[in-house]
Amino acid sequence: MPVHDVVIVGGGGAGLRAAIAVTETDPSLEVALVSKVYPMRSHTVAAEGGAAAVIKDHDSFENHIFDTISGGDWLVDQDAIELFVNEAPNELVQLEHWGCPWSREPDGKVAVRPFGGMKKERTWYAADKTGFHMLHSLFQTSLKYPGIVPYDEWFATTLLIHDGRCQGVAALEQRTGRVEVIAGRSVIICTGGAGKVYPFTTNGAIKTGDGMSMAYRAGVPLKDMEFVQYHPTGLPGTGILITEAARGEGGILVNSDGYRYLQDYNLGQPLDVSDSNHPVKKSMELGPRDRLSQAFIHEQRKGRTIKGKFGDVVYLDVRHLGEKIIDQKIPFVRELASKYAGIDPVHEPIPVRPVLHYFMGGIDTDKTGSTSLPGLYAAGEVACVSINGANRLGSNSLTELLVFGARAGRAAAQFALEQSPTELAPLRKQVVDEDERITKSYLTKEGGTERISTIRTEMRDTMEDGAGIYRSEEGLKNTCNKLAELRDRFSNISLDDRSLTYNTELISVLELDAMLDVAEAVAHSARARKESRGSHQRTDHPVRDDDSYLMHSMAYKGDGAPKIDYKDVVITRWPPGERVYGQEQAE
Ligand SMILES: Cc1cc2nc3c(=O)[nH]c(=O)nc-3n(C[C@H](O)[C@H](O)[C@H](O)COP(=O)(O)OP(=O)(O)OC[C@H]3O[C@@H](n4cnc5c(N)ncnc54)[C@H](O)[C@@H]3O)c2cc1C
Repeated sequence: MPVHDVVIVGGGGAGLRAAIAVTETDPSLEVALVSKVYPMRSHTVAAEGGAAAVIKDHDSFENHIFDTISGGDWLVDQDAIELFVNEAPNELVQLEHWGCPWSREPDGKVAVRPFGGMKKERTWYAADKTGFHMLHSLFQTSLKYPGIVPYDEWFATTLLIHDGRCQGVAALEQRTGRVEVIAGRSVIICTGGAGKVYPFTTNGAIKTGDGMSMAYRAGVPLKDMEFVQYHPTGLPGTGILITEAARGEGGILVNSDGYRYLQDYNLGQPLDVSDSNHPVKKSMELGPRDRLSQAFIHEQRKGRTIKGKFGDVVYLDVRHLGEKIIDQKIPFVRELASKYAGIDPVHEPIPVRPVLHYFMGGIDTDKTGSTSLPGLYAAGEVACVSINGANRLGSNSLTELLVFGARAGRAAAQFALEQSPTELAPLRKQVVDEDERITKSYLTKEGGTERISTIRTEMRDTMEDGAGIYRSEEGLKNTCNKLAELRDRFSNISLDDRSLTYNTELISVLELDAMLDVAEAVAHSARARKESRGSHQRTDHPVRDDDSYLMHSMAYKGDGAPKIDYKDVVITRWPPGERVYGQEQAE
């Protein structure tokens, strides 16, 4: 039966946490959990480093709030970060009760490690496979609840809106190719980020921004899309992430001269790693990700990077930690480096370079996950609450999935309880139209000359060229124009595979359609923001301009280019200040 109470699109950390919250709000509510892959294959499984929450006596809520606000270059909504930080420890303890094996200190207390931009150690971890353990704990807990009905390998294509509110999705069953109604009195989008819009990313192949695009097409704005995060340490060639935990445990970055170049960028004091009592948190390698990725570009321009088979790299050196610590604290780093870079980090430094990692922007939501469309909620990387502002601090995201997944689940459950029963007929009609659109555009269409891979490659290249780590009016204009051209050419696309059973080419074209929407929102929002803030660095506007741009950008889908509007940032107790990571904050 396709009628449920709440429909959740996405079986990653946010989707599973939301599903549990719905059934715990009212066990009589039935939740459809729709996922284009089996939930354990969601990108959350790939998270390595950890999840942030205040637990130690040396730390405080105030510290966590302030680190996040300054890390996000004051574009963080302060009411949202305050409640996030307050609710974070309970969520992580709750996860332990559901089975998450947090790593421990010798005395049995939960261990925390330092992470970038966090001035105190507050990142909980399960060795360096934190995401795997978190997702596993959530997944096995979700199986306890008979009210959670899985739709595994169903691909949602569009939102169903009737009577002015969102009442479900149209979804394609990949095994059979049929398009069906999955109806509910409220819908939560938890489809994750869109790293695949760029050519070189840590993100899994499934992160194509489908949910952002679905909301955008329904008239819901995408917020702060110009802010995309490059992680400073990806493996060349594959983009596989070498977790920040490698630096949190004491790893250092060196250039072609073997020099710790970050000391030239005012990010912190050099750390004498031979002194094991020295607090690693003062290390310059633990500056925020935007600053570290920008420093790489400067080293490259100075000719101080190393030429590798897959472009320029610097070295991440963990040799001084010794084999025992490496195997105990960051075993996955050793495994990944030897499998994918052919080196053993116990004996050789790891070649790394910046790589697209995370979308700070996403579907505009409030603190309960609700959007401007009644009945539609969003949580996780797909959403922008915003607690990440212009640059996310590593390890806040896994906690965000839990805090805001749970909040969205509770709010969507409450909304569903207040609505009248679903009328299926008008939704079925929309799904018939959607099925026809997919069939005509891709499965029966003749004469198209464009290929998916050509458009996808050109889109990724233009995003890297114009909307990468450094941007300018000239580059962004070219990228916006190129994306308009690609959107045009997309309508002339042709598929070879016309079958209905596991048609992966069809899925790829639907994903490309979504990625073109996301790319457009990123490039146009970036072009409109004529200042530099966090991860958005304009060479032609190098300074942060609070008078004009201390605001969230809001991209609305238009007939041609999107319309870019703005919304105030919520400032409560922490007035805008300078981001300081150097000597000034050393103690
Ligand atoms: C390699 C890596 C390491 C990371 N490490 C950390 C870390 O240590 N700490 C930290 O805080 N953050 C980390 N992050 C970021 C964090 O892991 C992600 O932001 C987070 O896991 C996203 O979770 P999510 O639930 O929002 O989405 P995901 O886990 O990406 O799940 C998305 C779900 O949506 C479904 N879906 C998508 N589109 C559709 C569709 N059209 N129809 C049906 N279903 C759909 C997918 O099947 C999937 O189930 C890391 C990210 C990466 C890539």
